Amino acid sequence: MIQVKHIHKFYGKHHVLKDVSLQVSKGEVVVIIGPSGSGKSTLLRCMNYLEQIQDGAIEIEGKPIGLIERNGEKVEMPQKQLDQIRSEVGMVFQNFNLFPHLSVLDNILMAPMTVKRTKRSDVEPLAKELLVKVGLAEKAHMYPDHLSGGQKQRVAIARALAMQPKVMLFDEPTSALDPELVGEVLAVMKQLAAEGMTMVVVTHEMGFAKEVADRVVVMDAGSLIEEGAPAKIFTAPEQQRTQAFLSKVL
Ligand code: ADP
Ligand code: MG
Repeated sequence: MIQVKHIHKFYGKHHVLKDVSLQVSKGEVVVIIGPSGSGKSTLLRCMNYLEQIQDGAIEIEGKPIGLIERNGEKVEMPQKQLDQIRSEVGMVFQNFNLFPHLSVLDNILMAPMTVKRTKRSDVEPLAKELLVKVGLAEKAHMYPDHLSGGQKQRVAIARALAMQPKVMLFDEPTSALDPELVGEVLAVMKQLAAEGMTMVVVTHEMGFAKEVADRVVVMDAGSLIEEGAPAKIFTAPEQQRTQAFLSKVL
């Protein structure tokens, strides 16, 4: 479903992703962990090409995203093609990024109506179904300001799902939440995973990783240093840097 092949990412001279490769299969839940600043968000943002890469390649379902080869040279793909591929990759951010001036329902309808040019009446049933799924059917006409953080994040998940993506990327979806609101968001994510959604999740929720991840990937200083089943990573990590990180968060 996702192939990240030897990518390099620089911010100016700062080399933040160093030859990173990662494959995510259909239906797999991959959790990325690692210290702050290790490049987790950057890697996730590269996966739907919110960030340009300087070398390597990324494919979604076998189709390149971002850089393509043309006459033996690597060039940026046309925006329309990028938007098309991107629409198959849903993303949920730490800070929800809801449109404050739109109701919950309109937040969910926005992308299908503008990006996919679907008629409102055609996408409304799906939007309402998704609100039921995230437990917010009765909040359709409220505005984000009137919701709790946990509710906002569940709307953000419904909004991403409205594009009917093939993959969902989550960047610390519960890090901005009060502790008592974390569970309701993780529950929605667990349900999605159980339904077979392909997911890549950056999180510090080790309980979620243990319970839901098929595979845990550890990043440190711009590299993937270790990966494996959660049982192995959490009980018998091979890398000293993984042990050091886990000893701080577990
Ligand atoms: P993580 O998500 O693991 O905390 P990030 O991917 O956010 O790490 O950041 C990786 C490195 O890239 C950090 O050193 C960070 O300071 C740097 N970085 C992130 N975003 C930018 C940016 N927009 N411009 C310059 N440097 C950045
Ligand atoms: Mg981050």
